[in-house]
Amino acid sequence: MFNPEVTDNTFNIDSHNNLSICNMERYLKLDEWRIIEDGFDPDKQKASESIFSIGNGHMGQRANFEEEYSGETLQGSYIAGIYYPDKTRVGWWKNGYPEYFAKVLNSTNWIGIDIEINGQSLDLAKCQVSDFRRELNMREGYLDRSFRATMDNGEQVEVNVHRFLSITHPEIGLICYKMKALNFDGEIKLTPYINGEVYNMDANYDEIFWERVSEETNADGGIMTTRTKKSDFYLCSGMSVHCEKNGVPLEDSFPVKKKPMYIGQKISVNCSEGDEISLYKYAVNASSFDHEVNTLNDYAKKELSKAVKLGYDELFQRHTEKWKEKWELSDIRIEGDVAAQQGIRFNIFQLNQTYTGEDERLNIGPKGFTGEKYGGSTYWDTEAFCLPFYLNTADDQVARNLLLYRYKHLQKAIENAEKLGFSDGAALYPMVTMNGEECHNEWEITFEEIHRNGAIAYAIYNYIRHTGDREYLAPYGLEVLIGISRFWSQRVNFSEKRQKYVMLGVTGPNEYENNVNNNWYTNLMATWTMQYTQEAISYVKENYPETYKNVMEKTGFDDEKETDRWNTIIDNMYYPEDDERGIYLQQDGYLDKKQQLADELDSQERPINQHWSWDRILRSCFIKQGDVLQGIYFLEEQFDVDTIERNFRFYEPRTVHESSLSPCIHAILASKIRDEQKAYELYLRTARLDLDDYNQEVDEGCHITSMAGTWMSIVEGFAGKRVKDGKLHFNPFIPEQWDAYSFKILFRGNLLTIKVRKENVTITCKNGNRVALVIYGNEYFLKEGEQITVGHEQVVKAK
Ligand code: BGC
Repeated sequence: MFNPEVTDNTFNIDSHNNLSICNMERYLKLDEWRIIEDGFDPDKQKASESIFSIGNGHMGQRANFEEEYSGETLQGSYIAGIYYPDKTRVGWWKNGYPEYFAKVLNSTNWIGIDIEINGQSLDLAKCQVSDFRRELNMREGYLDRSFRATMDNGEQVEVNVHRFLSITHPEIGLICYKMKALNFDGEIKLTPYINGEVYNMDANYDEIFWERVSEETNADGGIMTTRTKKSDFYLCSGMSVHCEKNGVPLEDSFPVKKKPMYIGQKISVNCSEGDEISLYKYAVNASSFDHEVNTLNDYAKKELSKAVKLGYDELFQRHTEKWKEKWELSDIRIEGDVAAQQGIRFNIFQLNQTYTGEDERLNIGPKGFTGEKYGGSTYWDTEAFCLPFYLNTADDQVARNLLLYRYKHLQKAIENAEKLGFSDGAALYPMVTMNGEECHNEWEITFEEIHRNGAIAYAIYNYIRHTGDREYLAPYGLEVLIGISRFWSQRVNFSEKRQKYVMLGVTGPNEYENNVNNNWYTNLMATWTMQYTQEAISYVKENYPETYKNVMEKTGFDDEKETDRWNTIIDNMYYPEDDERGIYLQQDGYLDKKQQLADELDSQERPINQHWSWDRILRSCFIKQGDVLQGIYFLEEQFDVDTIERNFRFYEPRTVHESSLSPCIHAILASKIRDEQKAYELYLRTARLDLDDYNQEVDEGCHITSMAGTWMSIVEGFAGKRVKDGKLHFNPFIPEQWDAYSFKILFRGNLLTIKVRKENVTITCKNGNRVALVIYGNEYFLKEGEQITVGHEQVVKAK
C-alpha cells in the first residue's frame, strides 16, 4: 500500500536537550518512564488517544475517555485476530486482486461510563476543564487520567481514572473511576456500560461490521455477545461493576438495563460536598478466535467472576510484576538524554504490548492496537524489522511463533502464487494479510512488490543464526524455503540479449519506482534464498532423513532437477551495477534518471509524496526507503566495508526517508562505516517519531513496526551487535550526546548486559553457559557472573 506517511523535518542535535527537532513544539513532558500530558487540548485529543494506548497482546485500547465525548475522537477497542473482510474498493479492477481487505475491528466499547451531575451530562468538549493530566506509566503498564470539570452551573468535580489491560489475564480490562463532588450537594449518576454498536472509520462502504447475538444482565452488569458479519467471529464482552462512596461499598441495587448490543447499569448516588465515589469496572472480552462458540458465554462469565474474586489490587499487582519481568529483558537505558530515554522506552513498551508471542496465529500490524490504518494486518515489516527485537529480548518461542505464522500460511501462499499463474508448489506470500490470504490491491505492489518473499526466507535464517535452533528447518522451515525458491525460479526469465537471468516488472522496497526491471535487491534476495534453501535441504537430508523423505514427498520436490535449475540461475543472475562509481544499481534504468540530492529539494516541496504528482515521483531519483541498502544490511557479510561505504554515500543523499521504516537501516549502515554523526542523526528520525508527532499523523495510530527499527538502530547500529559463526560480535560506539547506554540480550541460553560508556564497554554474563564474544574483533569467553570491560578499540580490564 502506498503509504502517505512522511518523515521530513529538520533535525537539531544540541547540547542541552539533545534530541530535538527544529520548529517542533513538544506537548508531552519529558520523563524517563512516563508519558505525561498536562493540560487539555482538544486538538491533540486524537493524537493522545494513539500515544496513550494500552494493550496486552490480546487486546488494545486507544486512550478514549470513559465518559461521553462529543469532540473529535477515534474510538478504538481492538481484539487480536478479529477482523472483517471489507469489500475491496479500487478504481479499476485487475484480475488477481483480492476480493477484500481484512480490517482490524473496532470492537465492543467496554470502557464507557456516562456521567450526569445533577442532570447535566459530563462531556469534556462541553464543560470547562482544568488540571487535566494524562499519564502513561510504561514501567507498570497503566494509564492514569485526572481533571477538574466545571459544569455550566458552576458545579465542580474532580476525576481520577486508572485503567489497565491485564497482561496476566489477557481477556480482562479494568478501570477504577473516582469522582469527587468539590462544591455541591446533589445527585451523581454513573452509567457504566458495554456497547457493541460500533463502527470502523476506515470502512470502505460505511458498513457496520458487527451484529447482535444476545444480551444477558445480572445484578452487577452482564454479558453480551456480538458477531462479525461475513467472518463470523463471536465476541463475548461482559462487565461487573462495584461502587463505593467514601470507601464504603454501596449496598443499594441499581437497575441494569439492556437493549440490543448494549448493557448499562444506572448507578445514582446522593453526594454532599467533598464526597468521593469510586467505581470499579471489570470487563471481559473473550472471542471465538480462542474458544468454541458454544462455550464462549460460560467461559466469559467464569473469567469475569474469577477476576472480580481476585480483586482489582491483586490483578494490578500481578500485572505490574509481569511488566517488571518484561522490562528486565528488554529495557534500553540511556544516560544523559531524557528525551532519548523516553523515546526508546516508549518504542519498547509499545512493541511489548502489541505482541507477546504466545499465539502463532497472531502477528504485528504496522499500527498495532493503536489505530485502524493498515488494517492491523501483517506486512514484511514483521520479518524485516520486528523479528530482531523479539529474538533478542524474549524467549526463543516468541520469535519462533512469528515464523510459524508464515509456515501455517504456506498453503495459502501457494494458492496465491497459483492465482497469478505460478505452479508446482511455488509460494508467493501476500503483501498484506490477516489469515494468509492476500488483501492488498494496488497492482504495482500486490503483484510486483514480491521482495517480501525474500524477507520471509531471510527471517528463517536470521532466527536460526541467533538461536542456533537449526532443528526448526526439518518440520517447518524447509517447506517454506522450497516454496519461496520455487517461486523465484519461475519468476525469473532468461534474457537472450544479456545471456543472463533477469527479473522484470517488479517494485523493490523503494515504492517510489514501480514496474522496474532487475531491482538489485530483489534479484539478490532471490538467489540468496535459492542458495540458502539448498543448505537447508542438505542439513535436513543429513540430520533428519525421515523428515527429508516426508518433505520431498509432500512437496513433490525433485532434488536434483530443481536444484540444478536453481544453481544455473544463481550462477547466471544479472545484477545491475555501475562500475564507474563502484555501486550496485537499484534497477536497470536508475542512472537514466536526473540525478539530484534530497538536500537540493526545496523544503516547501517536502515530503514529496504530499507535494508532487505520483508521475513526478516515479520519474525522480528520490528513494522512499532503503532498497540497495536494505540488501546490504541483510547480507552484510557478502560486502567489504569500502563497498558498503560507496553504496551508502551514493544512496543515502538520494533517500527522502518517507517511510518510517527507512532511517533505521541507514543508521545501522552509517554505524558500520563509522559515520557516527550521521548514524545518530538518522536514529533521531525514528526515536520519537510518534511522541513528537513529526509526521502530524499520530492521530491515526502509532508506527509500531518502525519502533523495532529504533531498537535495531541502537543495538545493531551503535553497539554493532551481530551474530557470526555462532558468536556474538559487538563494535560499539557511543553517541556524543549520551553519557552511557545499556541493554540486555538473550542469546542461546545466556543473558548478557552490554553497557557502553564514553571510555569503554562492559559486557556481563548475568546467567548462562560459557559464551563466546567478539568485541572489536577480539574474542573473549564469559561464564555466568563474569564480566569484561574493553576500552573503545582496546582491552582495559578482564576478570
Ligand atoms: C512501506 C512498506 C511497509 C508498509 C507498512 C510502506 O510505507 O513502504 O515497506 O511494508 O508501509 O508499514
